Amino acid sequence: MGCNFSPYKGVCGFFVKAFKWLPVLLISAIVIWSYYAYVVHLCVLTVTEDVVRYLLLVLYHIIFVLFLWSYWRTVWASPGPVPARFRLTMDEFENLESTESDVEQKRILQQVVIDKDLPVCMRTIQGSVRYCDRCSIIKPDRAHHCSMCGNCVLKMDHHCPWVNNCVAFFNYKFFVLFLMYGFVYCVFISLSVLKYFLQFWARSFESTGQSKFHILFLFFVASMFSISLCSLLCYHIHLILNNRTTLEAFRAPVFRRGPDKEGFSLGRLGNLQEVFGDNWKTLMFPMFSSFGDGLTFPQKFPDLEMGEAINKEMERGGGGGGGGAGPDVGAGGAGPDKIVRDRF
Ligand code: ZN
Ligand code: ZN
Repeated sequence: MGCNFSPYKGVCGFFVKAFKWLPVLLISAIVIWSYYAYVVHLCVLTVTEDVVRYLLLVLYHIIFVLFLWSYWRTVWASPGPVPARFRLTMDEFENLESTESDVEQKRILQQVVIDKDLPVCMRTIQGSVRYCDRCSIIKPDRAHHCSMCGNCVLKMDHHCPWVNNCVAFFNYKFFVLFLMYGFVYCVFISLSVLKYFLQFWARSFESTGQSKFHILFLFFVASMFSISLCSLLCYHIHLILNNRTTLEAFRAPVFRRGPDKEGFSLGRLGNLQEVFGDNWKTLMFPMFSSFGDGLTFPQKFPDLEMGEAINKEMERGGGGGGGGAGPDVGAGGAGPDKIVRDRF
């Protein structure tokens, strides 16, 4: 048929990629229209007092720039690819593929982690090192495979069609700011349009041309979006305060001691700083200021006896925890500082 059926390659890949941009184009079209309706039809053609007009225009443009900037960075920021050292070499891959035994595969993966000194603490529910067979990589903690992007991404939160990107370690802050400024943008429009909306609605205010239509529609669209953005923003604030990703809210991360929903929680302030950083100058701007490298994350119960745990693991033949009471294990002789960063 001449059509490559891979969703990531060939002609089909091109159309799939183009189709994925439709939600972004829709959002962009709505934003461009809202700008035109607010600035031209409300501020220029409807508002009669100069002071009110200039005040609305200044405030509107400040919020508009912050909102667009956050959206732009969420769409275009790389969500965080997994470093090459986590990828299995050809020998390791063939070694893994050559055995059908789960126990043997588990042992091989554990050996790879030790040989390469990979800092992984999380395990599968069976107690094995987390491995992505589509990318042939050892998954770093909190990384997941995104079927839409076709690769594993660091600290994956979810794949968002409205930004056509994975929301993950390197753009999560931008995404939350996008929700926040989007909400502020919609509320600001709704409130500043309300007076004229009511006048038009009561037919007590005559306007020329299409301004009435634009202002009525502006109010409805802004109110509708502000409700959905508010609920999404509140949910993500809840996740941030508990140091969870959307995926982890559905399935708790598993450590050697077992699943623990609170495993990465460092307290409200610590959790907030993990995403936003501690520099007030960059806090509220879409500039990357999250703590860490997306590969290792401080834990609620840091393992201070990592070397001992690794020895025990090796004595068991790399068999993995399976509900053992032992502490979480980094890997390959990594000292505690590798997992628990300096400030903690
Ligand atoms: Zn993958
Ligand atoms: Zn994705």
